[in-house]
Amino acid sequence: MRLLHSGMNHIVTSRLVLLPLAVWAGACAPGPRGTSTAPAPAAAPVRVESLPPVTLEYPSSGGGVATSATSNLDEFARLDHMDWPGPNSYRGADGAPGPAYWQQRANYDIRATLDTGARRIQGHVTITYTNNSPDTLRYVWLQLDQNLYRTGSRGSALYPQDSRWGVRGFQGGYEITDLRVNGKSAASRVNDTMMQVTLDAPLAPRGASTTLAMDFTFRIPDHGSDRMGRDGTLYEIAQWYPRMAVYDDVRGWNTDPYLGQGEFYLEYGDIDYAVTVPAGYTVAGSGVLENPGDVLTGVERSRLARAATSTAVVPVIGTSDATATPVAGMKTWRFRAHNVRDVAWAGAPDFRWDATSWNGVVIQAFYQWPKAGAGWENAAENTQWTIRTYSTLFFPYPYPQASTVAGPVGGMEYPMFVMVGYAAQPQGAFDTIDHEQGHEWFPMMVGSNERRYAWMDEGINTYINTFSNELRKPGTSRWSGYLEEWRAVVENGTQSPLMTMPDLINPGALGAIGYRKPAAVLLTLRDHVVGREAFDRAFREYIRRWAFRHPTPADFFRTIESYTGQDLSWFWRGFFYGTGVLDIGIDSVSSAAVNGDYRAMVTLSKHSDIPFPVELRLKLADGSTQDARLPALIWKDGDRYVAAIPVRGAVVGARLWPDPTVPDWNDANDAWGDAPPAEPAGPVTSGGLTSLVNGGR
Ligand SMILES: [Zn+2]
Repeated sequence: MRLLHSGMNHIVTSRLVLLPLAVWAGACAPGPRGTSTAPAPAAAPVRVESLPPVTLEYPSSGGGVATSATSNLDEFARLDHMDWPGPNSYRGADGAPGPAYWQQRANYDIRATLDTGARRIQGHVTITYTNNSPDTLRYVWLQLDQNLYRTGSRGSALYPQDSRWGVRGFQGGYEITDLRVNGKSAASRVNDTMMQVTLDAPLAPRGASTTLAMDFTFRIPDHGSDRMGRDGTLYEIAQWYPRMAVYDDVRGWNTDPYLGQGEFYLEYGDIDYAVTVPAGYTVAGSGVLENPGDVLTGVERSRLARAATSTAVVPVIGTSDATATPVAGMKTWRFRAHNVRDVAWAGAPDFRWDATSWNGVVIQAFYQWPKAGAGWENAAENTQWTIRTYSTLFFPYPYPQASTVAGPVGGMEYPMFVMVGYAAQPQGAFDTIDHEQGHEWFPMMVGSNERRYAWMDEGINTYINTFSNELRKPGTSRWSGYLEEWRAVVENGTQSPLMTMPDLINPGALGAIGYRKPAAVLLTLRDHVVGREAFDRAFREYIRRWAFRHPTPADFFRTIESYTGQDLSWFWRGFFYGTGVLDIGIDSVSSAAVNGDYRAMVTLSKHSDIPFPVELRLKLADGSTQDARLPALIWKDGDRYVAAIPVRGAVVGARLWPDPTVPDWNDANDAWGDAPPAEPAGPVTSGGLTSLVNGGR
């Protein structure tokens, strides 16, 4: 059990004003909403002086102040009590990796051939797997994602055939042959998209390695559940080689199958891969091209070298060079990717290829012309913007290159390589490029378990996208769009908690639950609960702690709490574990002079299960305004609270949330009397950015 000691003390010791409560009885009596007591007329001259911080008064029973006593059997229950696993020596109580934190490592060597006639991939993979855990392993699990396309797969039963994740009647799946462990033939058992391999000898803990090798082949689906696929001569190849499942300290072997909607959870390692494609093809992929001399012309190599030191965009293959003229034979492109959780690639005979750089990172865009719209001529610049923005705001981009490829896949992310749908939007592909490249931070760098927690990659990515987007389009705000999507799933009944496994989220609600609600609540936490600068620094600390590691939700929650110094159990409970919405309203406001000092009494009600700190703007008779802020703890005794606020004069109106970026579900009860206007909806990411950019780490 975790208690809110510091907050309590702060309130109790801060000049608790003990007023003769009977004076306020009339004002505090609960009445129907909208029939609040009229403000008291100004009875004394307005005193102009600087006032002390807002003082708070708890409504006390028997003192003439009406308090509601609903749902307060355990007065802390709605504010505290969050049961998280651990802490232990692997994951610390402050949210950082513990002293005994470990994770496995998987290095891959892959050789594959793209057969464009049979539309097949045929390959061989050698995996060097290191067991850093404290456990002896007698078997391992691998992920065979292509088995989603086997007849009767679980995913094909779960998602409608023609849906985004649907298999569309395609029959494929892996054929695995010549499976070997340490060179010896090994036994395996395939369970849907997972394969268990029995090891020839127990794999010792803390650093022992074993080698798995196998041949694999699969037919390439045209629609690979919007994560890979083919369009004419263009192939986008991902989930293409057997990958190690994650063994971690939280769940042991993570054997959740690939069903379609849930994404991936992968170990870090170094991946060497070689893809053999028709000789006329250009290949874009994760990692660094190791043999440019074999596959690029001298002109292309010199253009690429120029781009690598230029912030301007250099066409490596321009319109006139991007021809699909068949070339006899095959060519092998070799790539190496260091410290990645995956690799993917794309090939086409007629890619245009633009390149530029930023801060030593080579930035590239590949697209077929004119199939990819004119917006794609900005794709390299868009990618450069994104890499620069997130590197500056959050954490330096860790890889030597970043590629964006246009194709049939709507938007999908892999290390150093993202796929973005052919732009139909008039503004170009910026939003999608920015989102997919944002995934290089979450989950490519901060390697959470996507198959369990969409909010940790999609949601946090959408949160950082808000900054990039509002910087790119000054004066615009993402806020109302996020709220609209969240509101829609509340109203149509498809909402589930943010902690829901992605495959269990209603597909129609995925955008709201996986992306927009988590972004909205993180913005809310930043702007209205812990403060912008504190949150920004805590957020960057989370990235620093968990880069190239496997954080869990508790690691994120603990890091934010520890770094900002706030117990936020009520926030996580309300917005991450529950489906409630926020609705706080003003019941009534009165003000009067007592011994020459004006005080406003504001009666507030909480109409849902979610407590929240109150932001209030009072309008005084002289037309001036005065702001007050009350902590979430005011809701510890129930759903009604009376705030006694020293004011400079009579109060004529009041507004909750003068900054309207608080997700209060019902704005009908947020204003009282001659309420001061809410601030215009500006960028929700305003403020704090300067500290982010200039504050350093
Ligand atoms: Zn995404």
